[in-house]
Amino acid sequence: MQIHSLFGSGKAVVSFEIFPPKPNYSLDTIFATLDGLKELKPDFISVTYGAGGSSTERSIEIADKVKNEYHIETLAHLTCVGSTRGDIEKVLNRFSNHNIENVLALRGDPPQGQAGFAASNPGYKYAGDLVAHIKERTDFCVAAAAYPEGHLECPDLNVHFSHLKAKVDQGVDFLITQLFFDNNIFFTFLDKARAQGIYCPVVVGIMPVLNAAQIKRMTSLCGASVPDGLQRILEKYANSAADMEKAGIEYACRQINNLLENHADGIHLYTMNKAEQARIIMHQTGLR
Ligand code: FAD
Repeated sequence: MQIHSLFGSGKAVVSFEIFPPKPNYSLDTIFATLDGLKELKPDFISVTYGAGGSSTERSIEIADKVKNEYHIETLAHLTCVGSTRGDIEKVLNRFSNHNIENVLALRGDPPQGQAGFAASNPGYKYAGDLVAHIKERTDFCVAAAAYPEGHLECPDLNVHFSHLKAKVDQGVDFLITQLFFDNNIFFTFLDKARAQGIYCPVVVGIMPVLNAAQIKRMTSLCGASVPDGLQRILEKYANSAADMEKAGIEYACRQINNLLENHADGIHLYTMNKAEQARIIMHQTGLR
């Protein structure tokens, strides 16, 4: 099923992101996670993809299992940085052979140690180039990333909006946002997106704070701001992992409840491969 058909029922679409375990870890760990997530009956699960194809085999194997063994709709992430058109076509054909009908089209980041993209591959400079390529075929629903606080390489939000609009116009069926911790930032982003003619569904990416180190790493990678209320939690529970996790889950639930009250198209939980925390959040918000 193409995921775009799930929107518009009046109910928020519920989805989870998982990532392949590191190469030296068994895939069994992700299947244990999936056993727990399946019980929550998500509308779809997305599977991340290492930039430059660094996790291709594992990503495809997991996406295949999600779709064909767990029977959950699958959104396969795909990055284009460093790939040729032939590489991308091969991966798309493999997705198609596994009945995977949904792709999250991403540019990806350069491999560690490389600064930029200009020299890497002129065919796929931006995610929009990948969106356009996939849309030449008819077999995929295409999602793309959106950044309510802007993207680190493009701090001017107005310029970034024009890039987002161009990407959507290349054939994006729905957007998934980068994590953020202040819903007002998202509401402002959404109003502006609609005003600029971006009408596709926008699924909200939520990352529960499960430990302080994780949030420090994520915010430094993606530039998301930490509002005072969350900062106080990070300081208050700096020495108590269990309390931090409990407070982080409550914070995520408050964010989600407020987003649902404001008719969010969908909630996409960055699960960090942790099914139990996802279960608590789904139950506390009444989503499942
Ligand atoms: P783009 O949309 O191409 O944007 C990248 C930058 O280029 C932005 O600053 C934008 O403003 C600018 N830009 C875009 N178009 C133009 C243009 N025409 N002219 C000039 N500038 C332009 N990474 C992974 O490696 N694997 C994953 O599985 C993965 N999953 C993700 C899932 C989500 C929901 C999100 C939000 C991010 C994910 N990422 C993943 C991270 C992503 O690869 C990085 O954020 C990357 O830096 C940008 O990718 P993009 O697809 O948003 O790029």
